[in-house]
Amino acid sequence: MSTDLRSNFLRTQIQSDLDSGTVTNVVTRFPPEPNGFLHIGHAKSITVNFGLAEQFGGVCNLRFDDTNPEKESQIFIDAIRQDVQWLGYQWHGDVRYASSYFQQFYDWAHHLIEEGLAYVCDLSADQARETRGSLTAPGTNSPFRDRSIEENRTLFTAMRDGEFEDGSRVLRAKIDMASPNINMRDPILYRIRALPHHQTGDDWPIYPTYDFAHGQEDAIEGVSHSICTLEFEDHRPLYDWFIEHLPVPSKPRQFEFARLNLNYTVTSKRKLKGLVDDGSVAGWDDPRMPTIAGLRRRGYPAAAIRHFCEEVGTSRSDGVVDVAMLESAVRNELNQKAPRAMAVIDPLKVVIDNFEGSETLELANHPSEASMGTRSVNFSKEIWIEREDFREEANKKFKRLVLGKRVRLRGAYVIEAERCEKDDAGEVIAVHACLVPQQLGEDPDDGVKPKGVIHWVATDTAVVAEIREYDRLFADADPAKADDFASVLNPNSLVVKQAYAEASLVAADNESSFQFERLGYFVADRVDHTSEHLVFNKIIGLRDSWGSHG
Ligand code: ATP
Ligand code: MG
Repeated sequence: MSTDLRSNFLRTQIQSDLDSGTVTNVVTRFPPEPNGFLHIGHAKSITVNFGLAEQFGGVCNLRFDDTNPEKESQIFIDAIRQDVQWLGYQWHGDVRYASSYFQQFYDWAHHLIEEGLAYVCDLSADQARETRGSLTAPGTNSPFRDRSIEENRTLFTAMRDGEFEDGSRVLRAKIDMASPNINMRDPILYRIRALPHHQTGDDWPIYPTYDFAHGQEDAIEGVSHSICTLEFEDHRPLYDWFIEHLPVPSKPRQFEFARLNLNYTVTSKRKLKGLVDDGSVAGWDDPRMPTIAGLRRRGYPAAAIRHFCEEVGTSRSDGVVDVAMLESAVRNELNQKAPRAMAVIDPLKVVIDNFEGSETLELANHPSEASMGTRSVNFSKEIWIEREDFREEANKKFKRLVLGKRVRLRGAYVIEAERCEKDDAGEVIAVHACLVPQQLGEDPDDGVKPKGVIHWVATDTAVVAEIREYDRLFADADPAKADDFASVLNPNSLVVKQAYAEASLVAADNESSFQFERLGYFVADRVDHTSEHLVFNKIIGLRDSWGSHG
């Protein structure tokens, strides 16, 4: 893909592994748990993993880390596949599932039992917590730690056969209750959980923990570089311990990088689920959500998200990225790629008294990209302009339409305002203007140039469009710290309006984006837009209106 690649520690690492022959084929993977929709943080992980594979001629797997059926579902699996493809990536071969390795994990658990490295523990969850110790104090051994291999084998087999209550026993690794790393204090390998699984149905009443599964999944798939975020750094010694003590087919190495955090944004599936569940948003793909599906529906181009992920870099130091950077990547992309069109959101009628009938004008779809072609736009005696583009009187700074002054209509003629009509309340309801003598596209014959350009739509051919004006979901730069989201939600994150749009927009495909001249970037809603009922989402304004940054 076309983004310039910046050097980072992962690229350096892989290059040196290839140079030294430590690794010959680069295999990475993106391993989401299907318990929610992916968010912008996952987009970072996707671009890192798929991007590295692409750069170094390797492959990247998509693997569902589905070891906890309670919160997982097929809906999330389908959404995640779609999101990855929409971002522009294709995984290697079939989608993989941790659950398809359950038998192997089970056999490996027995292997540890036979080696005297795992035991069935009957402590309750509370008791286990009490004996785990703390960051400063060592833990104490479980009274079940010295069960015989034979007893462990029998009990673990009975766990698998569904003979015990949920939560009554666990299988633990026998490592070191005094380890300074709490992850090494006889961690749990298996829990009893008699729950149906979205992939394996009722096959298993026990499920492996994420810790016991993760590294072995990588080993099974021959992953050369297992890349994850920094919170798993302390788990690496445990993953390495499993790899060392199990007859695995390959030895993956793990490298951690800092999570992507954005201000004004929540990047936690659990918290995003809260917004969906409490009705703060219309769903996971609500255009205000930082989910990939939400950003897509909002009209953020996949290329802009990829560029942004590259631009923020990949490092091991935590930080918070200004969301204005993402918005600016979106603007840059759309400025180049979005065709122009015209719509008027707060209409005021202008009657051009010395013009009769109508005329078809050919307008460029893009000011600098001739290859984007032209479109026909109808011009007529009555047009809509934006109410705020007219004033009866104004000083020189106001470069729009003023009584007695001229303005150019975008792509059309220069007009001069002569008088206005008002209703009983004194509100202007129509402006009367005249076309000044001129050739289309030239300055007026008398040489008096207009100061500004405004957009317009002919009243007789205008089509009505629903406009969903979206803004940032949160008004607070650090929403995740709030106890309840209600206090930090931006009350104006969605305002629905109506617009008069040029007729060409009837042909707009779902998900096609436009710059509505002078208003911002808009996209035909992926779900609700039809040629009978036009629905455009505001993607973003032409400039950053949040002031303090960008
Ligand atoms: P969440 O905290 O939102 O639930 P998660 O880490 O639990 O996210 P997973 O499904 O386990 O979600 O994530 C899949 C991959 O995406 C993991 O490798 C994880 O490290 C990575 N990832 C998740 N969030 C971010 C982020 N903010 N920045 C970079 N990578 C991320
Ligand atoms: Mg996770």
